[in-house]
Amino acid sequence: MRVRNGDKINLLFNVTPDVLEEYRDSILDALKRRSIDAHAGLLGDIAPENVDYIIHATGGPITDFAPFTNTRAVLSLWAGVEKIVGNTTLTQPLCRMVDDGLRQGMVEWVVGHVLRAHLGMDRYVCEKPHAWEQHVPPLATDRAVTVLGLGELGAAAATALAQLGFRVTGWSRSPREVTGVRCLAGADNLPQALASAEILVGLLPQTPETIDLLNAERLALLPKGSIIVNAGRGTLIVDGALIAALDSGQVAHATLDVFRTEPVPSDHPFWSHPGVTISPHIAAATRASTAAEKIAENVMRAESGQPLLHVVDRTLSY
Ligand code: NDP
Repeated sequence: MRVRNGDKINLLFNVTPDVLEEYRDSILDALKRRSIDAHAGLLGDIAPENVDYIIHATGGPITDFAPFTNTRAVLSLWAGVEKIVGNTTLTQPLCRMVDDGLRQGMVEWVVGHVLRAHLGMDRYVCEKPHAWEQHVPPLATDRAVTVLGLGELGAAAATALAQLGFRVTGWSRSPREVTGVRCLAGADNLPQALASAEILVGLLPQTPETIDLLNAERLALLPKGSIIVNAGRGTLIVDGALIAALDSGQVAHATLDVFRTEPVPSDHPFWSHPGVTISPHIAAATRASTAAEKIAENVMRAESGQPLLHVVDRTLSY
């Protein structure tokens, strides 16, 4: 192991003060359990050339990573890295967050909202018709769900939905195999994936290829009256096209956890549209208890000469 700051490694937290408070002790403890002593600091506390690892979360003050010449890796606390991946000063390996807490949280959120849509729960929970109107939902085996994105989160959500009996199609960039899921890949197969989406789940990262992917033309490929559940990134869907599709009945409802601008501006039409449920980016939160273990594991791997896990491919932006 390298020796810096006595026998400690130097972790620079490029995060906001509240994130530092939430994560610092968990990460230091997780490292200690792996016999790694670390010194944690903020920008200005540690000379740039002495920084071994940067723990990164959106909102941190560092925008120029060039001075951190001996930094072995930038470790993101978040799964989505679209705000940092294009930073040309960042030449160090960038690792994103993949952990069980995130995966479990996303599976629960997606399954919850897909079941809500599938069972038509809003009719009784929100609309309260004050009339004995029986709308018996189909069984999951008669409902087609498409999941866009078959990565760590998409594959887990697709698997959980398939295990409930839904007819699940998954779509990814490169060919994938997920048990119980019809897997399609590549732009050529997107129309097929959309055509069978009575419920469409978005779990794609934000990349140049996925921005505005769901425009008016592609929303028109969905079965009429389909329901959208998006927890990937808000740029996936063209807001105006979605509003138009909701107004025409092409899309019956959209539950959105992610948006082009967050928090959603108070005058955004999504707030007042009856066909939109706004969920304030809470689908799957990184939790310090599990995420700290992942950060510590990657530090330990780097310190012992093993390859880092979950390194972002800059050419793909995810
Ligand atoms: P991964 O990188 O593991 O998976 C991304 C998936 O998207 C892969 O299957 C990938 O294909 C696919 N993909 C990427 N680009 C394209 C493309 N152009 N065409 C088709 N498929 C594509 O990411 P995760 O599953 O861990 O996370 C997904 C996203 O979820 C994150 O990037 C983040 O934005 C969002 N997120 C949201 C949270 C929330 O609370 N709302 C919480 C955490 C994450 P392939 O398999 O071929 O690589």
